[in-house]
Amino acid sequence: MPKLKYLDLREAVIDTCLRMNAEGINQGTSGNVSVRTPEGFLMTASGIPYDKMRPEHIVEMDLDGGYVGDYLPSTEWRMHLDIFRERPEAGAVVHTHSIYATALSCLRKDIPPFHYMIGIAGGTTLRCASYAEYGTAALSKAMLKAMRDRSACLLANHGQIAFGPDLDKALWRAGEVETLCHQYWAALQAGKPVLLSTLQMTSVLARFKTYGKQPGELKKGDALSVVGPVRRDVPGGKRGGRKGR
Ligand code: 13P
Ligand code: ZN
Repeated sequence: MPKLKYLDLREAVIDTCLRMNAEGINQGTSGNVSVRTPEGFLMTASGIPYDKMRPEHIVEMDLDGGYVGDYLPSTEWRMHLDIFRERPEAGAVVHTHSIYATALSCLRKDIPPFHYMIGIAGGTTLRCASYAEYGTAALSKAMLKAMRDRSACLLANHGQIAFGPDLDKALWRAGEVETLCHQYWAALQAGKPVLLSTLQMTSVLARFKTYGKQPGELKKGDALSVVGPVRRDVPGGKRGGRKGR
């Protein structure tokens, strides 16, 4: 048998699928995962249980919808392909049927800025794509629209999809989307959530650009995400955060 191309990446895709189910944000053979390659992307095969998935079940695809080998790619290959085509910053995509995101997707409404973490999807709302049948070009078109200036969205009566620069970040974002939907659901049980204003969210989004970055990783003009602590081990006690905050 010829040596499999991208063996490490194929194993990383399987590991992401197993984590997605183990972390409780997907179940059964629902959901799918992909990662970009220089020629296109690697896509999970359709309908194979993740604990039975082997590297040969990860299907090599090009950005024109072609695939290589004996296994059929995920029914949702088109959503993954369209993200890789339209969004150069995407390195990996995770689609799941996580419980709360799926439940709220059935309301067919965008999730408003009830919590500042809504900004992890890239804007002031987590949009819900309009309904289209699973695995269709129509679903992918609706998804791309909901994904404008965003890196995650809900899919009506279906679930959610998220991307990131790599597999870890894409899985992290899908997990955050599920947490947000769970929290929003809980807030709705308790009353009518007070929403953050556009101004409040604009400030959060600016700081999110550098969240997790240390001073050595910042570019000139970047807003610091940590506000106010004073550094004592340099002359003059330089401020570690923005003044007055
Ligand atoms: P696949 O097994 O074909 O990836 O389908 C799962 C799914 O979630 C379809 O929307
Ligand atoms: Zn699905």
